[in-house]
Amino acid sequence: MSSPAPVPASPGSSSQRKRGSTESIGLYAVQCCECYKWRTIPTKDEFETIRENFTADPWFCSKRPDCTCKDPADIEYDSSRIWVIDKPNIPKPPPNTERLVIMRGDLTKTDIYYVLPNGKRAKGTGDVQKFLDANPEYKDSLSLESFSFTMPKIVEETVSNSSAWKTKKTKKQDKTNASSSKN
Ligand SMILES: [Zn+2]
Repeated sequence: MSSPAPVPASPGSSSQRKRGSTESIGLYAVQCCECYKWRTIPTKDEFETIRENFTADPWFCSKRPDCTCKDPADIEYDSSRIWVIDKPNIPKPPPNTERLVIMRGDLTKTDIYYVLPNGKRAKGTGDVQKFLDANPEYKDSLSLESFSFTMPKIVEETVSNSSAWKTKKTKKQDKTNASSSKN
């Protein structure tokens, strides 16, 4: 049984990654429902609040102080970084827990973990249930329904342009060249 090792953040976001955290997401952004521009969200907490209510309470530029739809986008949706798109309405993590999105090394998949109050990581509701069984004092504040292990969708086009992917491709090409040189 092997546990997935923490993997480096996507090239576009590694510089903004918090030190000591294994979270792969380096930057949070939300799209305005009116002008479709992307606005960066300064903190994970704020992002999680917006995400929690996204369908019932869609986001507009005007929700941010001193920002209107006329302002240029904070960030462009392009392949200069790898994008992952969250499903809306993921509940905010319960108190004393943290939700981590960790990109696998081959950039094909993300894993969702919750850091529980005892510092252990839950990778599914089974782990949360085990924790609650062992620590019944948390049963009131941590309900299973507030945990969502729904993975964000990785935007493939942005991965295929990332340097990690290009390295792979180049290696493949080298092989091809090597075999063709025999002829
Ligand atoms: Zn707008």
